[in-house]
Amino acid sequence: MQVVGYAAKKARGELALFSFERREPRPRDVVIDIKYCGICHSDIHQVNDEWGGSTFPMVPGHEITGIVSEVGSQVKRFSVGDRVGIGCFVDSCRRCSPCRRGLEQYCVEGATLTYNAVERDGKTRTQGGYSNKIVVNERYVLHIPAKIPLDRAAPLLCAGITLYSPLVHWKAGPRKRVAIIGLGGLGHIGVKLAHSLGAHVTVLSHSLRKQDDAKKMGANEFYSTSDPDTFRKLKGSFDLIINTVSAELDLNRYLELLSLDGTMVIVGLPEKEMPLGAFSLISARRSLAGSVIGGIKETQEMLDYCGKKGIASEIELIPISKVNEAYQRVLKSDVRYRFVIDMKSLEQS
Ligand code: NAP
Ligand code: ZN
Repeated sequence: MQVVGYAAKKARGELALFSFERREPRPRDVVIDIKYCGICHSDIHQVNDEWGGSTFPMVPGHEITGIVSEVGSQVKRFSVGDRVGIGCFVDSCRRCSPCRRGLEQYCVEGATLTYNAVERDGKTRTQGGYSNKIVVNERYVLHIPAKIPLDRAAPLLCAGITLYSPLVHWKAGPRKRVAIIGLGGLGHIGVKLAHSLGAHVTVLSHSLRKQDDAKKMGANEFYSTSDPDTFRKLKGSFDLIINTVSAELDLNRYLELLSLDGTMVIVGLPEKEMPLGAFSLISARRSLAGSVIGGIKETQEMLDYCGKKGIASEIELIPISKVNEAYQRVLKSDVRYRFVIDMKSLEQS
């Protein structure tokens, strides 16, 4: 089927209107009219080919919400009119041990990413959510709880699950001191989730500008990492640190903020490697870990949890014509706290 969207034609290129084909729905496929798509910093990394291997033209977008407009003959879990979401992947091998455990994000063969990837037929390119329609096998489609507006739900499909999964895995909860580094798209949902789980939440931000907002989201404490005193004061303070920063940080300095047996989880994905000193770990039996999004089962659990707790993203809704400007603002950490594209605006483009 013919679809329209916005694509980057080359690395670091501006995004512009682009028409392309998606597959005709198969028996287990769901066709979704895309209503909203969040702008994740990963979209920018990939358009700029900062991780290597980007292919063009690229339609980014993996924080997708919309309405089911068509279902294949064997679809069981969805009906026309359902409110649904798509996250960072649209397929996986379905056979390996992680896939069988509902951890498709760790598929041994690699999950099929929503865009900038090739489908399992080995040739069809995937294209993402900055577009008006998407066709996805029902196994990889999520239900959006009625209580969450579709625009504020979109960022949960990547930012939300990326923080929920490590917070739950490393048992953020009462009496746990959790720090979130970076109050951007990922970080701000992390603060809301960690607070709702009962943890004591500290935000480590590179200025004090976002302090008032963070407190409203549930942060107990807020520190600027540009102030060297912060690192002296907070030495050995946290059980769990989640690093959401998109740029390189001095990991060793932040590891010193963990108490005995504390863990720092990396979810931010900067272009360059970050040096690690052995002493930062051994001096308090600390762990350094990483985590990527979450599986379909856990993503649904996160959405249902957010529906129950009234958690959604803080967003700036924009027309698609402003996407290039929005990228520049994300790069300056100037977004409160996630840009979401209103796909109605594609009709006027
Ligand atoms: P974002 O909205 O741009 O937020 C990143 C935050 O990091 C900024 O708001 C800023 O917070 C801080 N920051 C940025 N540059 C900095 C610098 N030079 N020094 C110190 N702090 C800086 O990005 P996002 O969408 O949340 O994504 C964050 C990272 O996670 C990206 O690298 C993205 O690719 C990655 N990601 C990973 C996964 C995963 O599954 N692991 C999933 C999605 C995204 P302050 O203003 O508060 O300092
Ligand atoms: Zn993302």
